[in-house]
Amino acid sequence: MTQRAFELPVIEAHDPVDHPAAAAAFNADVARTEWHDASLWFVREKRDRAAAAVPEWEALRAQASAIKEHALTHLDEYLVQFEANALKNGMQVHWARDADEHNRIVHAILSDAGAKRLVKSKSMLTEECGLNPYLEARDIEVVDTDLGERIVQLRQEGPSHIVMPAIHLKKEEVGETFHEHLGTPSGLSEPTALARAAREHLRARFLAADATLTGMNFAIAETGGFVVCTNEGNADLGMALAPVHIASVGIEKIIPRVEDLAVFLRLLARSATGQAVTAYTSHVHGARTGQALHVVLVDNGRTRQLAREEFWRSLKCIRCGACMNTCPIYRRSGGHSYGSTVPGPIGSVLTPGLDLERYASLPFASTLCGSCTAVCPVKIDLDAQLFRWRQHVVERGYVSAAKTVAMKASVRLFDHPRLFRAAGALARLGLRILPARLERLVGGPWARARELPQPPAESFRAWYRKNRNGGA
Ligand code: SF4
Repeated sequence: MTQRAFELPVIEAHDPVDHPAAAAAFNADVARTEWHDASLWFVREKRDRAAAAVPEWEALRAQASAIKEHALTHLDEYLVQFEANALKNGMQVHWARDADEHNRIVHAILSDAGAKRLVKSKSMLTEECGLNPYLEARDIEVVDTDLGERIVQLRQEGPSHIVMPAIHLKKEEVGETFHEHLGTPSGLSEPTALARAAREHLRARFLAADATLTGMNFAIAETGGFVVCTNEGNADLGMALAPVHIASVGIEKIIPRVEDLAVFLRLLARSATGQAVTAYTSHVHGARTGQALHVVLVDNGRTRQLAREEFWRSLKCIRCGACMNTCPIYRRSGGHSYGSTVPGPIGSVLTPGLDLERYASLPFASTLCGSCTAVCPVKIDLDAQLFRWRQHVVERGYVSAAKTVAMKASVRLFDHPRLFRAAGALARLGLRILPARLERLVGGPWARARELPQPPAESFRAWYRKNRNGGA
């Protein structure tokens, strides 16, 4: 297996996820943390420029939010409408209550078709369902064809970001991985050469595939069709070549009408990567001649989330990844530290709904600064939902003893102004006398990756005295 330049947190399938410990492990590599942080911030700034270039951006966000809320509150009707129209389009429609049922359906479709080689693109849902290991255990070869997904698949890792799955890796590490698995020259890390090698490797898999599986960005009730957005054209290649196409989709991806696409497509790519549109926006309204097209509608906890008054709006998510790119915690802790398929702020809202005790640390993986809410193209109130999950975690007693003590001490501090002022004076003294390096050292890896405030050269009182008469 590929030699790793850093240690991934090992989180077993049923272990409680300890986000702070996993984040500290990521932060131990200071250079990687800083570079990861800067790379994501670069994408966030691109997103800002793209959004600022659309004068009606805020109106689009409001419209997208309203369409999603309408679709989610009428989901039963739109799902049935989608199914009826998809059947008219010649698709076969399957319903899966959970991950296991989804995997069994996909396996049965492949078995019936005698398919042994599956190429897969654009599907975080299959990550969520654990489809790859399920099929591999049944002698079916699964190849992820999105470049980033393929890189992490070769390294036997999961994606660390929903749009940029290998964002935690440097090009040199990708070069090592390709050298080991694709036979590229040792030390080759030039991105164009690596992309060329990946293309050759993947083309052969596309040509040999018996079946393809794609996700969907949007499923349209009015027409029974769906849309897949990619930048690499890999979903299109799979759909154009394989005799069997399976399209798996979470039920929250339904939108009512074709014209709604005009709103979402303008928001999606700009929010995700700062592009005006994705390179490929493919509309599927039926199978090719001779091809079997199956749609699998997956619940896997979504109806439970829909029934939660405080959290149902999280299902508006269109998986653009913008909340991750902006989140100061995600940028400095890496996607694997969340131990869930979807990391970052939206992952920390969705995943506790699956198993609150296991994922109790995730709602605390946030500064509650609200930056995620500010960039979300469908206006999900992420910071408010994270705060509500924290309350549930505390009520159910899932917080550690250390955090409970720290929180009680904080309450005491904030309740007593004198104590608060004394603590403030001590903190200011500490900031003055501890040199920054020492402070970062004693603060541990997590603190080392943060920008700490620089103490002012003089106190506010001294500055005010000097300047109150216009500096005279
Ligand atoms: S919650 Fe909003 S910002 Fe985050 S991935 Fe979903 S749509 Fe994008």
